[in-house]
This record gives sequence, structure tokens and C-alpha cells, in this order.
Amino acid sequence: MAIYGGYRFPIVVPGVETAASLNAPAALGFLAGNRGKAQIFAKPSRPVWHQSDYARQTAAVRAASGITMAVAPNPTEKMMFQLTLRRRGVSDQAVLRTMEEVPREAFVAPADRDDAYRDSALGIACGQTISQPFVVAYMTEQLQLQKQHRVLEIGTGSGYQAAILSRLCRHVLTIERYRTLADSARARLEKLGYDNIEVLLGDGFDVPAGGGDFDRIIVTAAMERIPEKLLERLRPGGVLIAPVGPHHGVQTLVRIIRTEAGFERKELVDVRFVPALPGIAREL
Ligand code: SAH
Repeated sequence: MAIYGGYRFPIVVPGVETAASLNAPAALGFLAGNRGKAQIFAKPSRPVWHQSDYARQTAAVRAASGITMAVAPNPTEKMMFQLTLRRRGVSDQAVLRTMEEVPREAFVAPADRDDAYRDSALGIACGQTISQPFVVAYMTEQLQLQKQHRVLEIGTGSGYQAAILSRLCRHVLTIERYRTLADSARARLEKLGYDNIEVLLGDGFDVPAGGGDFDRIIVTAAMERIPEKLLERLRPGGVLIAPVGPHHGVQTLVRIIRTEAGFERKELVDVRFVPALPGIAREL
């Protein structure tokens, strides 16, 4: 752990591929730019979370998912989860509420359930990863979702990011190249009652034309460049966010807005995601 101004950051271990972790130096720079905010959030004027809500929510989640957990997430862990997101600069109330409501423990491997509310990426099947919660919240916030939006996600993985998106928009189409992951995410999301998400086995570099156009596109695997074909699927006024850069190294989160005049590009923060690979995986 690195400590900066009293805030702790998990260090990205070199050589260990994490789906979506903010690079420590980038995180420090990012925080430095948000220090004012961080200080405000360090002393919330009212509690961000209540024990009674927690008990109700946990019971509801268990009933809906049929999950038997060895250890239920404890109230302190969930409170720290929210505080970490706020301290690191996430301020959109709807995003924070959604991060609180979606049960991350239902999306991680059973052996990792005790760590579900730590701010780190975790391994899932097929050698892939569920992204770090801060990165999920940050990308979601950057998308500026509206209730009527139709959203495309490339890289379903566990289905966690899709679940978060689905609470803030009308419909999510999420595409995954591993059949094992697509099938398990589809089953998990259905069991948990997320009924406005379609999980498709496919290749995000070749989104079926029948899928239509999108108000928002989020890519959760690293692309060396953003394909023109993908940009064309954005509606006017639409926003795309994607990690762009080398497959095995640091990438930059890029936000592209489709305007009347063309495309406006902005580089946000440095991140590390697993690579986006072409084609449906032949195995798994
Ligand atoms: N959003 C996920 C985590 C993403 S990990 C979650 O919330 O859990 C990145 C995922 O992108 C992996 O599952 C990987 O298999 C998938 N992926 C990589 N290249 C892809 C492509 N071309 N099309 C669709 N999915 C792809």
C-alpha cells in the first residue's frame, strides 16, 4: 500500500495482470487534482450508509441470488467501500447509490467473497478479471448516463459493470468473447433480477449490425486503438469510454464524444486492463 496525504492506494504489482486497476502514480495525480473534493468527502455531513439498510439489502440479495456466503460482507467493509469511492473523487450520487446496491460478492469467485468490497480487481474464470470498484464507478460516472439511454458494453466478464450500468439506463447490450463467461454472467444477472441486460457471445471488434446504435459505449478491455466501426455505432451526442494502449502495459482511459462536427477526444487517467482480443474464443 502506498500512502499519500492519508489516503491509501493498492499498488499495481508489476507483471500481475489486473482487469482494471488505476496505476498508482496515475492515481496519485488523479487524486491531487481532486484534493478539494477528497477533503470534503473525508468528512461527510451525514452517514453515507445505515445499518438497517445493510441488513435489509443483504437479506434481499441473498434471497434473490440464492447465494450462501461463508461470511456476509460486514457493515464496516461496505461503509469503507463507499468512503473509498468518495475519497477518490466519485461524486455522482446515483453512481454511488448504485455501487452500494449492486452486490459485488455475487459476481466474484466464491473463494474471493471475503474480498468483494476491497478496492481491487479479482480473478474470474478464463484468466480474466472483474475490474476494481473505483474504476467501475469512475467509468460509469464519466459516461453521464440518462434513464433513456441504450448502452453497449464490450467485455462482459463477470457481468458486474453491466449490472451497475443497467440501474442507470434503459438497456445494456454486453458482449463477451468467452462462452463460459457469457453463459455464467447471463445466468447470474437473470438470477439477480437484472432484466434490462442482454448478454451476447461475440466479438466487440465486430458488433452485429442488428444491434443498432448506442447512446453510450463502454469498453472494459484494452484496445490498441479504437476501431472506426465502433465509433460509427455512437448516436450523435453519444459518449464512448475505453482503455487505449499497449496490451501488456499501462493504458489511458479515453473518452470520445460524438458531436455535430465529428469526434472530441479526451484522455482521462492511466489504467491497466486485460487485452481486448479479436474473435470469439475457440476454447472455454
Ligand atoms: N466488465 C467486466 C470485466 C472485464 S474483463 C466485469 O465487470 O467483470 C475484460 C473482458 O473483456 C474479459 O472477460 C475478456 O474476455 C473480454 N474481451 C476481450 N476482448 C473482447 C472482444 N473482442 N469482444 C468481447 N469481449 C472481449
